[in-house]
Amino acid sequence: MESTIRQISKSVFAVIGPEGATNFTIIKASDGAAALIDADIRRIDEVEEALRVTGCAGVGYLIDTHEHFDHTSANFYFAQKHIPIVASAGCVHAMQDDGPADFARMLKPVPELYERFPGLCLTLPDVIFDKATEVRLPGVTLSLEYRAENGHSHSKGDTTIYFHEEEVFIAGDLLYTEVHPVTFFGNIPNWLTALKPLFECRYQQLIPGHGPAVDGEQAGRAYFKRMHDYLEDFYGQLQEIKSGRKSKEEIIQLMKSGAYSNLGKTRMVERNINQFLTGKWY
Ligand SMILES: [Zn+2]
Repeated sequence: MESTIRQISKSVFAVIGPEGATNFTIIKASDGAAALIDADIRRIDEVEEALRVTGCAGVGYLIDTHEHFDHTSANFYFAQKHIPIVASAGCVHAMQDDGPADFARMLKPVPELYERFPGLCLTLPDVIFDKATEVRLPGVTLSLEYRAENGHSHSKGDTTIYFHEEEVFIAGDLLYTEVHPVTFFGNIPNWLTALKPLFECRYQQLIPGHGPAVDGEQAGRAYFKRMHDYLEDFYGQLQEIKSGRKSKEEIIQLMKSGAYSNLGKTRMVERNINQFLTGKWY
């Protein structure tokens, strides 16, 4: 399956990954430069194609919503073009701590990328903020907010982006729509807390880190609520496994049925549980 480029508003285009693969967002300024939000080196051709078909003249800023490989691995590619890369200090610290090992692990199945991009390596953002910042291009005002509760929610870098002129909210991986989330790098209790203020956010369009974009605030709030309830339920179920009251198999079944039966990426459920059981949690 291929990703689809969806026009979200006049100047916003989302590259929606197939089957819950990572979303990338292009915000096109009035001079043609793009603010690009997240990019994965394994899918750089899709990103370049999206920049081309949307008529962007180049990239003015690359913004990393958080440190995970599928959101930051194309930093190298854009840094070589001298494009400033913006991220939270939490994201940068996480990349410094865990990044090199993670980068090598993720590239293992695709060694040809080292040949295609000589010197390919973990590349840190170079425009760093603590709590909040603004990124501006002609006709584009972006508010970036660091939302990793106590420094760790879905990730340690969780940042949301709000595009004022067209009222588009980009939630990063704090929100997954229509697919099971990846929880095993996260801290679920903190993630639950981080989601609360997002119920109140104002926007016309909402783009999650994975899954389809959402039209309208009301639908958006329902998705945030669903995300919250899923995590709360899943966290409770994990405690049941821990205490021996339920088996792993029971929980896998539970998380794939009822309200969750239509969610894609079902393989994530077992991976999330396994990581929890092997102690690789917070
Ligand atoms: Zn992530």
